[in-house]
Amino acid sequence: MQSTTYIRRELEPAPAVPFTQDLLIDGQRVPALSGRYFETRNPATEQVIARVAEADAADVDRAVRSARAAFEGEWNQMRAADRGALLLKFAEAIRGAQDELIELESLDSGKPVSAIRRQDLPAVLDTLAYYAGFADKINGQVIPARNDALTYSVREPLGVVGAIVPWNFPLMIGMWKIAPALACGCTVVLKPAELTSLTALRLGELAIEAGIPAGVLNVVPGLGKTAGQAIVDHPDIDKVTFTGSPAVGRQILRGAAGNLKRVTLELGGKSANIVFPDADIDAAAKAAASGIFFNSGQVCSAGSRILVHEDVYDEFVARLVARARAVRVGDPSETATAMGPLVSEAQMQRVLDYIAIGRNEGARLVAGGARSGNVGYFVSPTVFAGVSNDMRIAQEEIFGPVAAVIAFQTEDEALRIANGTAYSLAAGVWSSDISRVHRFARRLKAGTVWVNTYGPTDVRLPWGGARDSGFGREHGDAAIENFTESKVVWINTGR
Ligand code: NAD
Repeated sequence: MQSTTYIRRELEPAPAVPFTQDLLIDGQRVPALSGRYFETRNPATEQVIARVAEADAADVDRAVRSARAAFEGEWNQMRAADRGALLLKFAEAIRGAQDELIELESLDSGKPVSAIRRQDLPAVLDTLAYYAGFADKINGQVIPARNDALTYSVREPLGVVGAIVPWNFPLMIGMWKIAPALACGCTVVLKPAELTSLTALRLGELAIEAGIPAGVLNVVPGLGKTAGQAIVDHPDIDKVTFTGSPAVGRQILRGAAGNLKRVTLELGGKSANIVFPDADIDAAAKAAASGIFFNSGQVCSAGSRILVHEDVYDEFVARLVARARAVRVGDPSETATAMGPLVSEAQMQRVLDYIAIGRNEGARLVAGGARSGNVGYFVSPTVFAGVSNDMRIAQEEIFGPVAAVIAFQTEDEALRIANGTAYSLAAGVWSSDISRVHRFARRLKAGTVWVNTYGPTDVRLPWGGARDSGFGREHGDAAIENFTESKVVWINTGR
């Protein structure tokens, strides 16, 4: 399978990715001041596809100056409705370039083109349209506090936003931050993950093509410890919105204390997907498989712990194993491919290490468990049965296609296991007992509880977690709060 991928890429003309990719600052593509570049690879073929300019603190500073000037200039002087209209034009520009964006995202991240076309790209457009509509509906309130004054509040944009995003959904998570920030009148310095910078740079160009003023959206690829840290440390950034790992989240929180930046953290997960005997077992197994194998398991809300009642345990595991073996793993550019490679060699190694840990802990490997092929960072869909919740494979986020199936006997036990990790991002419950469903929806520690489904998200619904999954909410009107500050105006009227 991988060798087919390799040959295909050798025989066909190289895709239209300019080999050198510069930063996007103040509406211009510019090299890093240091002149440094880093390489980005196609994880399906291991081939280098581009050299990306490597921003450091000096480049971040240039980008922040540009974003500040845009914030204080045209972007906030225009009517809110006109800002919304520009966001819709941005969406149109993205729609016009969607084939290119889909190919670029797939080449850079290894995500299957079919999944990007079906899920990521529509979500990007939906997010932009949704927040474009918000731009002129960010209302204040008249609050009748006194008889001798007219007192009201308005919501004002926070200012310059630093957006730091991971590699698992570069376009979609990028847009979850860009769209509400811009709708509120903020300007953005976006740092994509170093493994997947290409679509973020293209998005920045499309914003300019759509007529969004220079400096409103700057894109500064670079390493976390330099470019990312420079955003966190910069005294003229008002807010950091971050999606990534809990370890980096903690570092960001510490760094943001410098100028007391506002922070939103969307971090990891180890979500429980709980199956009761009164559920539709086939539907549950199907959704559980996509809940852990979608995007090769590189999903913060992946249903990585599957809790199954002992009465249906064997039947469920058999169905899940059959589904795991049926997943079409392969060339992400083929439309029939359901699962591509992991994003990098390091990520593949991390997942293989966890598979070895699971075996050593005594879990029963019933599907997959190894690298697939020897070119590209592919790992077979893997299922461990006989897992107990204290094993590392049940407690730690693997971020790969590895399901840990845990048996339970009672509701209380299921709840204890489900809530028994450091995370609380999402959970799933499968049951036809409506009372039980409500009990679980109430008692599960999770930002989202799915019932008789697993995994859908919608930009209208608040998204986020607690504890090691971070804090704050993205999406919906929660995101408007994230990028605005309230101001009270008190006008003395006399009695
Ligand atoms: P990561 O934390 O290593 O990197 C995320 C981003 O932070 C990258 O852009 C990176 O360059 C940057 N970064 C690294 N060190 C930094 C520093 N010191 N200062 C500032 N920025 C720094 O995470 P990752 O490996 O790219 O992504 C995987 C993680 O993201 C997983 O834990 C996953 O669960 C989480 N995630 C969460 C959500 C959610 O919505 N909750 C969504 C997707 C991914």
